[in-house]
Amino acid sequence: MSKRILISDLIDEASCYQLLREIKWKNGIECFECGSKDIRKNGHDKGVEHRQRYVCKSCNKSFTDITDTVIASNHVPIQKWMSCAFLKDYMSNKQMSKALDLPENVVGDMRSELSEGFLKNSILKDWDW
Ligand SMILES: [Zn+2]
Repeated sequence: MSKRILISDLIDEASCYQLLREIKWKNGIECFECGSKDIRKNGHDKGVEHRQRYVCKSCNKSFTDITDTVIASNHVPIQKWMSCAFLKDYMSNKQMSKALDLPENVVGDMRSELSEGFLKNSILKDWDW
């Protein structure tokens, strides 16, 4: 049986994480806890090649590219989150569910999470949709 190709299979994981970092840290990487810019890179997340880990040298907290973003809400790969972000205004939950091979309720949750953009706990909308 051949594998069905999804649009998200054609999207590059590294580019998705790069875009997320640009949205999240317009002025350079900051600690989510204390706001310090004294950050050390700390390898990549297990199983997710391009998701960078960091440690704050000021308060010692660890975080990753997805900390405080909607992408941390579930285990759906970032390529499907990005696809959903771009397609949500053109597709119903049912269509998106088929296009991304995700349950309809998961797509519905992602859509509502994305209504204010990728960043959680931010008063600013992060993307001009
Ligand atoms: Zn800190």
